[in-house]
Amino acid sequence: MENVIGDIDIISEKEKNDEIILISEEKKTGKRKKLYVESYGCQMNFSDSEIVTSILTKDDFETTSDATKADLILINTCSIRERAEQTVRNRLNHFNGIKKKRPELTVGVLGCMAERLKSKLLEEEKIVDLVVGPDAYRDLPSLVNKVEDGQKAVNTFLSREETYADISPVRLNSNGVTAFISIMRGCDNMCSFCVVPFTRGRERSRDPHSIVAEAKELFENGYREVTLLGQNVDSYKWSPNDELKGKAQIEKADNPNIVNFSSLLEIVAKVHPDLRIRFSTSHPKDITDEVLYTMKRHENICKYIHLPVQSGNTRVLEMMNRTYSRDWYVKKIDAIREILGEDCGISSDMITGFCTETEEEHRDTISIMDYAQYDFSYMFAYSERPGTLAEKKYQDDIPEEIKKRRLSEIIEKQQKISLNRNNKDVGKVHKVLIEGFSKRSKEHFQGRNSANKVVVFPKENFKKGGYAYVTVNNCTSATLMGEVVR
Ligand code: SAM
Ligand code: SF4
Repeated sequence: MENVIGDIDIISEKEKNDEIILISEEKKTGKRKKLYVESYGCQMNFSDSEIVTSILTKDDFETTSDATKADLILINTCSIRERAEQTVRNRLNHFNGIKKKRPELTVGVLGCMAERLKSKLLEEEKIVDLVVGPDAYRDLPSLVNKVEDGQKAVNTFLSREETYADISPVRLNSNGVTAFISIMRGCDNMCSFCVVPFTRGRERSRDPHSIVAEAKELFENGYREVTLLGQNVDSYKWSPNDELKGKAQIEKADNPNIVNFSSLLEIVAKVHPDLRIRFSTSHPKDITDEVLYTMKRHENICKYIHLPVQSGNTRVLEMMNRTYSRDWYVKKIDAIREILGEDCGISSDMITGFCTETEEEHRDTISIMDYAQYDFSYMFAYSERPGTLAEKKYQDDIPEEIKKRRLSEIIEKQQKISLNRNNKDVGKVHKVLIEGFSKRSKEHFQGRNSANKVVVFPKENFKKGGYAYVTVNNCTSATLMGEVVR
């Protein structure tokens, strides 16, 4: 789930890896050294980069958006597909040019690639001085000192407890209106294609008090939308009892004070009626009717669910170890439509050409798209990842050109469905949270409706961060266009 940049709604593998990056901004605070951060991959990585920036700007650093001026360059990396790692290696090559001119520059790799390759990364990429995994960011100031003393530094320790709950993130590339709040870390699912459980460790939920405090602070600072982030938000579980470590122990305990995702949503929704709440990602095996009813009860919880299907075929889903069938997934879609109505936005992730997938099974993915009527989807060709269950158990036997052809078929299908869904919004009035100027014109604002669709309308006297009611009179497959209702 990575729909952060403007009005890119249907994202191919290329766009997803090449375009969605987050770069630190120039902020002069008079600190001694300059930090440049570049972030790839999912929203969780972007959120982590904000935590890293907070840790280092409390130390000796101020941020810069110009890598050539930096004393420390950090790349927060993604390992989800091979291409994502290749992009990072290309960037390291580019930074090599800067380091040749300024040998005192420190270059560090953070995130999933750091965790996956550990000290091997130091051998493979000579430019790298620092390798830090997702649970070791508190150690960054001392690791940087170690590098400044002439050594290489690595910390890829994975924790069962770290949630960075007490760290107030420094918002990067912020529009001042929408922000992410990380509510949990890691993943205990073992989808056979996925590296995340290996690179981000065991699942753990963050103290709800610190989540609510962060939401309140954001609201007081003018933000009007928060997205609660986790790999599988519906399995959020927090216990006030410190002795219960990890999700498994909390699930077994019989404690009325345990906070689940539905109750967390409710308490965040109560922070302020003008603060919108979104969340991502929902796993079809875990999302409950209780969550759907909580969404229905609160106007400010956006009617939008990212519910990745991955495949529409039960045999393939079993091989993917997704632990639900096609029928189960279809029933979840039915429950969403029944409880939240036809207008609720639904999006998905899909993988084409997973091991042994037949043409008929691929057509099952197309038919479930027809059934679910996704507003948009993130679609990928299967990329085998070292160390995953699929790599150990199955052969990556679908030729690349077939994966790509199937991918273009589902992209084409999604475009038609998106256009069809957007056409249904024409003529209706949408409540839009204004995020800023439209990409194409300073005379227009853009924002999102509750269903997470981008809506563009004439700016007039409206203000960023305010709500506008817009009648939609036109659309493309990616954007709704309209006029403000008087
Ligand atoms: N936790 C989320 C979930 O379960 O839906 C997904 C997180 S993952 C960072 C985002 C998406 O990347 C997945 O939903 C999947 O579609 C895709 N993905 C993961 N591993 C992949 C692989 N080996 N090849 C292609 N796509 C992959
Ligand atoms: Fe990966 Fe599955 Fe966990 Fe999502 S739920 S992060 S796809 S293992």
